[in-house]
Amino acid sequence: MNSGGAHCLKYGVTTNNLLGVTMVTMEGEVVEIGGAHLDAPGYDLLGLICGSEGQLGVVTEATLRILAKPEGARPVLMGFDSNEVAGACVSDIIKAGVLPVAIEFMDRPCIRACEDFAHAGYPDVEALLIVEVEGSEAEIDEQLGKITEIAKRHDPVALKESESAEQSALIWQGRKSAFGAMGQINDYMCLDGTIPVSQLPYVLKRMEELSAEYGLDVANVFHAGDGNLHPLILYDANKPGDLETCEALGAEILKLCVEVGGCLTGEHGVGVEKRDLMLTQYTVQDIAAQMRVKDVFDPAWLLNPAKVFPLESSAEYRDKAA
Ligand SMILES: Cc1cc2nc3c(=O)[nH]c(=O)nc-3n(C[C@H](O)[C@H](O)[C@H](O)COP(=O)(O)OP(=O)(O)OC[C@H]3O[C@@H](n4cnc5c(N)ncnc54)[C@H](O)[C@@H]3O)c2cc1C
Repeated sequence: MNSGGAHCLKYGVTTNNLLGVTMVTMEGEVVEIGGAHLDAPGYDLLGLICGSEGQLGVVTEATLRILAKPEGARPVLMGFDSNEVAGACVSDIIKAGVLPVAIEFMDRPCIRACEDFAHAGYPDVEALLIVEVEGSEAEIDEQLGKITEIAKRHDPVALKESESAEQSALIWQGRKSAFGAMGQINDYMCLDGTIPVSQLPYVLKRMEELSAEYGLDVANVFHAGDGNLHPLILYDANKPGDLETCEALGAEILKLCVEVGGCLTGEHGVGVEKRDLMLTQYTVQDIAAQMRVKDVFDPAWLLNPAKVFPLESSAEYRDKAA
């Protein structure tokens, strides 16, 4: 998987931090791809392997970059009275060229669930941003100065910088417990899509409309800085038909991500869940080209044959191999 997370806004996702892998091919050969250095010569096979969802070979070792620990870090909490305004604030921070290490977004249902669980001191607002910057004290003050100035233009109803390491840890503990905290309250399906940050206000508004249309609530907690959304669709697993409605709404939201210039996946991959949506993002020809790549590495289609590609598109390859 090309995994990501809160701090990828500054440090990039897995592919940006992977230097090399040892991989066992389907012929049983052990190959080294990349190594303990940046930018190996030749085709970027490492880029191909990273995020290929186990379809090309079995990785047995990975060499990762080690980054220097920053001198310090400080988060600031920003509360807004609507999701759209918080989304517009994120977009403005990114446009201004300031690079926080993380911008995390939570809407009211998530804020409440996290606060009840972790008592992190979150304000009771419609939308909350946790913006964190890193560096020396002087660098932190300078960056947070610019960021809070941008936030003030959006009339925040709460704005509070962390004042100690303990407060910072608590702020993050709240965010990191979001999925578990929501799970205590409701059954939910967690989506994973990506959008251009400038589209955040529109997408949040459109998701509200879709949520009303399908009759299921959507709670939001996500990595806003790099546009990686994780809408949580709340449903009742014991109510007949609710899961199907939830999946249909999920598909609409992911299509919306593609529609605004984003993509179907952020950090969770395609897997089985999104394979049939791949044709909303790629043409038949794109998918055919991707399947030819898999076929070179795995001619018998034994490695995760029913993942990533729409079943109908991959049927010929899978039948040939059976
Ligand atoms: C609540 C929740 C929160 C999450 N949060 C994050 C997050 O913050 N960031 C993020 O990036 N993801 C997140 N994820 C998604 C998570 O990263 C993926 O589910 C991840 O791929 C799990 O890895 P795994 O090895 O446990 O899963 P597996 O299902 O075992 O593997 C994932 C894929 O990799 C393949 N694979 C496994 N081992 C190898 C190998 N040795 N060589 C080649 N291919 C292999 C498998 O075939 C499979 O297709 C979250 C998921 C959940 C449920």
